[in-house]
Amino acid sequence: KQTQRLDKILSHMGIGTRSELKRLAKSGAIYVNGSKVKDSGMQVNPLQDEITVNGEPVTYKEFIYVMMNKPQGVVSATEDNRDRTVVDLLDDEYAAFDVFPVGRLDKDTEGLLLLTNDGKLAHNLLSPRKHVPKTYFAKVEWGVGQADIDAFAQGVTLDDGYETLPGELRILRQGSEAAGEPSEIELTIMEGKFHQVKRMFQAVGKTVVYLKRISMGPLLLDGNLRLGQSRELTEEELQALR
Ligand code: URA
Repeated sequence: KQTQRLDKILSHMGIGTRSELKRLAKSGAIYVNGSKVKDSGMQVNPLQDEITVNGEPVTYKEFIYVMMNKPQGVVSATEDNRDRTVVDLLDDEYAAFDVFPVGRLDKDTEGLLLLTNDGKLAHNLLSPRKHVPKTYFAKVEWGVGQADIDAFAQGVTLDDGYETLPGELRILRQGSEAAGEPSEIELTIMEGKFHQVKRMFQAVGKTVVYLKRISMGPLLLDGNLRLGQSRELTEEELQALR
């Protein structure tokens, strides 16, 4: 989507509430491409149109970086014929930037997902040579133990013959089939093959029944984000990612 409501753009930038912007427009304080704005709800292209408020140019940013706590049931894509996508969950003010997810989480996986329109940063984070560590919390049926820690530390062979890089497994809670309780673990991996965490456990004879990503490189999932919620990265988070 190329154009957005002017009042939405300006309120997003902290220049005023919608009703304040309506008054500002009425008073003749807002110009777009040199013309006085009458309707603060007019459609503008924030990347191309020149906007001034009280004579001050409003400089719009080109790139946006959004952290989402992805819920289950949505696909990590920008469009899908059948399912809702993570982009469908975004506020218009973020989606208007034509963001896309940096990598994929399975439909039934929750947690940290970065969305951006910065292709270069996305490419760097996804590059297999960069080995950006990703940490997942998982519930696994059933028991896990030192043998699994050792196997993952060596790297395991997936169903298609691929040998994974070493992964670091930490056991948070030992479950058991007798008690009907899955184990709870954290696993850090340095690559991102299709269904990698699930398939690594499959390789040691266990089943992942719940999966959530909690970090990617220096980026940690914000515990204040409820499932489906998003926020922009802070300046510190962005610096750390670059
Ligand atoms: N590994 C998986 O199996 N699924 C994900 O969504 C992410 C990592």
